[in-house]
Amino acid sequence: MEAVAEIRKQVGDDFHVQVKINGNDYGNAVFPWEGKGNTVEDTIQICRWLEEAGVDAVHISGGSSFPHPFNPPGGFPIDWALRTFDVMLSSGIYTFRRYLIFRYRLLRPIFNYFWNRKKPDIVEGINADTARQIKSHLKIPVLVTGGFQTASIIRRYIGEGYCDAVSIARALVANNDLVKIFASGKDIPDRPCTHCNKCLVNAIKNPLGCYELSRFDGDYDRMIEEVMSVFHPSPFDPVPAEGGD
Ligand code: SF4
Repeated sequence: MEAVAEIRKQVGDDFHVQVKINGNDYGNAVFPWEGKGNTVEDTIQICRWLEEAGVDAVHISGGSSFPHPFNPPGGFPIDWALRTFDVMLSSGIYTFRRYLIFRYRLLRPIFNYFWNRKKPDIVEGINADTARQIKSHLKIPVLVTGGFQTASIIRRYIGEGYCDAVSIARALVANNDLVKIFASGKDIPDRPCTHCNKCLVNAIKNPLGCYELSRFDGDYDRMIEEVMSVFHPSPFDPVPAEGGD
């Protein structure tokens, strides 16, 4: 509440202040001996306080750690994670433990067992029901995230009052023109995001982009060309030649 009050003081009343918050922490989804964290009842209370404090909207996510089977939902590409996780070794409480599990093949089945123990069956709209419960207690708009990339599903959740809007990340990494694809009348892109999460584990070391080879018919060069396309044209001015203007 103090942070929200201070932010509002700094930005003024005409600036949109939105809070992203877990509907459910699912803190014990991977390891059952860990605390479950906030439940939806806790989040409803927090969101009521946030509304009273003058927040303009809340944005519902889920899952308390990185990585987490509920956040972002989908696969967990251990081979790719092993290549990138090392850059985080100096930070976090559990990073080293997770790195060792990825590093040694014999430990991977243990990780897979715990990871898949409570892994949700659905990806698209995974937080929608939680958002609906929270929205029923608030007057401010409620946004929700979670694997959205099908126009009819998004339309249904908004139309049936689960949320006021959805937010989209991975599906826009896979198809930057997703909105235009919807506008053209298609319900889902021809090459949809597979929710493999390879973009996520690459983003900590490599340029953000889609690293799912199957979306490029196995053509690695074409995949990397698309990843690197964000640098063309260069976002930076060319360095002038020495002695030039
Ligand atoms: S790597 Fe591509 S297909 Fe996989 S989750 Fe990311 S955007 Fe989707």
